[in-house]
Amino acid sequence: MEWEESMRCQSCGREGPAGDYCAYCGAHQVRHTANTANSARRAEKRPHFFAANPFEHLYHPSIVSTFFPHLSRQRTHQMRWLLFILALAVLLISAGRFVPLAILLAALLMPVLYLFYFFDAQIYGNEPLRILGATFLLGALLGGGMSVALYRFLLSQYHPGAGLNPTYLLLTSVALPLLAQVLMLVGPLILYLTRPRFDEVLDGLAFGAASGLGFAATQSIAYAWLLIIGPFQRTGPISTWALPTVRIALLTPLLDAATTGLICAALWLRRDPQPATRRLGALASWPVVLLLGALGQIAPPLLSSLLPGLVMQIIWYALTLLVLMLLLRRVLHIGLIEKARPLGHGQTLICPQCHHEVSDLPFCPNCGLALLSISRRMRRPLPAQPAQETTHE
Ligand SMILES: [Zn+2]
Ligand SMILES: [Zn+2]
Repeated sequence: MEWEESMRCQSCGREGPAGDYCAYCGAHQVRHTANTANSARRAEKRPHFFAANPFEHLYHPSIVSTFFPHLSRQRTHQMRWLLFILALAVLLISAGRFVPLAILLAALLMPVLYLFYFFDAQIYGNEPLRILGATFLLGALLGGGMSVALYRFLLSQYHPGAGLNPTYLLLTSVALPLLAQVLMLVGPLILYLTRPRFDEVLDGLAFGAASGLGFAATQSIAYAWLLIIGPFQRTGPISTWALPTVRIALLTPLLDAATTGLICAALWLRRDPQPATRRLGALASWPVVLLLGALGQIAPPLLSSLLPGLVMQIIWYALTLLVLMLLLRRVLHIGLIEKARPLGHGQTLICPQCHHEVSDLPFCPNCGLALLSISRRMRRPLPAQPAQETTHE
């Protein structure tokens, strides 16, 4: 391949198009000023710039760029606003104590946004119904099914006022969350076994997250069913209704999406036939992510039982979600860097992050975006141009 200006990467030694990043290994090329000793450039492995969104720090706790990594920078901003406005609307409805409406909207908020993302990024390739069935629908069926099946049994085990009951605690804070995690993995595992062509780490995340979101939605609706069919407007302090709504709308679904997405991302890294440039590390191995997923499911309900209260519950869920999100970003980043590959069409395309025309190489040399994090809709090559001098910014 030929480029207007080329450079040799100081990290992998390959000759590629000139830019701030190596188009082959993604290493950040640090330019030194003239009075700096040694070479004019040196490369460093990129510990700070998230491979799916290089304008963000790797550990930026962003819900949108973590769970919707295929979105371009512009779409990420739009999705952030959409999420903020919808979450605020749900919060205001719950503050008005319109409880059935607030719970239903809260339970559906994240799944609807994720469905929009699924179609916008065309994650399903050319078989939308099968993929949606195996992820969202199966997750939702299993979530609702488990909750309905165990509802009466749980109620029979609950004896308020009798102090902390170890059996009930183990059941609701350990056994049920683990069972839920296993059920959330069923749909993605079917895809793992039957659809080998979806072999990218971000496919694993998307399938896992979709299953987790479907599961959380019907589970929340099943557990709150008596409130949903109750009076349309309730009385009492606003916090009694607003705080659980925050958990149903954001914390529970995102926690389920994070644990299932994390496990699936590591599984899909094993599936990806591209040989890794370096060892992927313990964090991206499936026994470690299974343990982390299990801990992520167990910690919030267990801590909420031991140190109860509506505010404390929000804190436990939010803290666990934060840790899981940062771990998830790390695994996605490792996968996108160490298993980077070109899209395969061998033409040029427009980088959706920085809008430069780039070759079909693993990374954009201008902004460092891993090309596998481009949505399938945006991967199309530019139409062939007549041979003439064209200038690009
Ligand atoms: Zn390189
Ligand atoms: Zn770019």
